[in-house]
Amino acid sequence: MALYVQKYGGTSVGSIERIEAVAQRVKRARENGDQVVVVVSAMSGDTNRLLGMAKELDENASSREMDVLISTGEQVTIALLSIALQKIGVDAISMTGDQVRMRTDSRNGKARIEEVETENLQAQLNAGNVVVVAGFQGRDKDNNITTLGRGGSDTTAVAIAAALKADECQIYTDVNGVYTTDPRIEPRARKLDYITFEEMLEMASLGAKVLQIRSVEFAGKYNVPLRVLSSFEEGEGTLISYEDVKMESAIISGIAFNRDEASLTIRGIPDQPLVAANILSPICDAGIDVDMIVQNAHGEDGLVDFTFTVHRNDYKQARLLLDKSAEEFSAKDVQGNDRIAKISIVGVGMWNHPGVAKTMFEVLGDNGINMLLISTSEIKISVVVDEKYLELGVRSLHSSFNLDSL
Ligand code: ADP
Ligand code: ASP
Ligand code: MG
Repeated sequence: MALYVQKYGGTSVGSIERIEAVAQRVKRARENGDQVVVVVSAMSGDTNRLLGMAKELDENASSREMDVLISTGEQVTIALLSIALQKIGVDAISMTGDQVRMRTDSRNGKARIEEVETENLQAQLNAGNVVVVAGFQGRDKDNNITTLGRGGSDTTAVAIAAALKADECQIYTDVNGVYTTDPRIEPRARKLDYITFEEMLEMASLGAKVLQIRSVEFAGKYNVPLRVLSSFEEGEGTLISYEDVKMESAIISGIAFNRDEASLTIRGIPDQPLVAANILSPICDAGIDVDMIVQNAHGEDGLVDFTFTVHRNDYKQARLLLDKSAEEFSAKDVQGNDRIAKISIVGVGMWNHPGVAKTMFEVLGDNGINMLLISTSEIKISVVVDEKYLELGVRSLHSSFNLDSL
């Protein structure tokens, strides 16, 4: 008897018919004699609808109350799915994050899971129930409801799979696996049978929202077998592999992109120790995550320009803080751009293939796409370009690196 954690995303539980289809799939697993914990998201669009209502009242609503609000979407779907399962003769019980005792830290809206108590889950599984758990939500030490950040149900599922030592964590979604790039941007994207854990981590962190990045981190840390599959069709999906299974031999495995970034540049500051630290510290103190960082020295005049990127939602606040630093350091000026996009090529095969960067830059250049920033690691190269070139950039790189499906 195997134990599976199955997670169904918003589209997969987006209507009563789809919830019924999920119930049938869970039933089949039970009929094979396997135990199942199901983690569900809110119905698609529901979390956004809830966020929208609060925003109408107050753009800066308290993050505690926001979490009380947006965690309700998942409470609806656990109940509906449990009802659907019971209707077709499958014993099932719903559980909120609190009932499971999903303990998190207190960062409302982006809480991290600290502990998953398995006692309640295990007792229900032993009693023969399918346990239907609300994704995305937890509880902090002061009994406040918390949420795990957008797409957080993936992380709930992996955390439960790790805690219960499940045989596999299966992420059922609206695509039949992980693709070479988002199939909505490039219809010629190809499904991967396997992707290495490192590549998946890069893809997720660089914008491929098919898995929340924390879920991939968690899976890596606790060695959880993780698979992405379609809830609408049969298939093997994509296995995130940790071992040396036969990989596809491509140098580049995939292309990720992200249009949520903005760049800020402070120009003409003194080229001295600690200046970069002094500029970044108010930004970091404000809880703003900084992604790419580039510093250019002018040479003769002893001045430097300092550029970094932040999430687009943090752009206005970061700009105000940087304007203050500009006064302090008598900088020439501050420039910003919140219409940029980041395109990244990812592949464990690239480290021993010199020339990948050259090819990438040539392809972009040949298509008239100017690069604003570049950053590299052993298994990825990221460039920032004007947002309007996102689709063209992704598609031309996809075909130049031979990723197009035949
Ligand atoms: P769910 O609601 O099931 O959690 P998401 O919308 O969060 O689903 O994630 C699935 C979506 O991720 C797909 O519909 C697809 O558009 C997008 N996506 C982005 N990059 C990729 C990729 N490389 N492979 C597959 N899907 C991707
Ligand atoms: N409902 C949440 C969201 O829309 C969590 C999830 O779907 O994973 O982000
Ligand atoms: Mg998701």
